[in-house]
Amino acid sequence: MIDQFSTLLLDMNETFMFGSDRFGATEDYSVIYRQLGGTMEPSLVNHLTGAAYNYLDVRYPDPKYRESFPSLREAFESAVAFEPLSNENLELLVGTFSRHELGTVPPEYAAAIHQLSKHFRLGLVIDIWSPKALWVERLEHCGVLPICESASFSSDCGMVKPSPFPFLKVLKEMQVEPQDAVMIGDSVRRDLGGASAVGMSCILVGGAQHPSALGAVDSLLELIASDS
Ligand SMILES: [Mg+2]
Repeated sequence: MIDQFSTLLLDMNETFMFGSDRFGATEDYSVIYRQLGGTMEPSLVNHLTGAAYNYLDVRYPDPKYRESFPSLREAFESAVAFEPLSNENLELLVGTFSRHELGTVPPEYAAAIHQLSKHFRLGLVIDIWSPKALWVERLEHCGVLPICESASFSSDCGMVKPSPFPFLKVLKEMQVEPQDAVMIGDSVRRDLGGASAVGMSCILVGGAQHPSALGAVDSLLELIASDS
């Protein structure tokens, strides 16, 4: 299915990183906040983090914010009613949020991406809400980032999928024509939608299906197995 392409662009969450986005009413964000050295009341930490999450969550699917998606700092600043947060606390809250957003790359997925890199040029089109530092570290550590020629992180530029711009940015950096690349991701709206907007094919993973997709497989691992 992928042999006709020179280049694969990969989504991250639910494509090769899993266990991300640990948010919700039962999460106690104050645990990590305290580990990072913060001293605000746990109830306030949980309130602010929940409010920042909700601020971004309602905007994420809204086309109005596709090319002007707020930063996590802005989300926290909007959550404070009266006194502004100190810069130190803002940093601690952002650090806490990042650690709840970050997932893990199972070794078999890292190995699969390595396998793919022998036959294809690779790029990443990633949506995250936090600043990218922890992801860069994790993707370096598992060996994925060094074998990718270009990576777009939405929090760098405030543009979220399915905006065509992150896709175009990566294609341009790699000097690849859209028809020579295929997007691989789990989201019909974000991955298939964004790829289609720039004239790229898309293969869905993780159970999603759509008539406009080139194909659908259970996982990235199955895609490799079916092509080898
Ligand atoms: Mg995804």
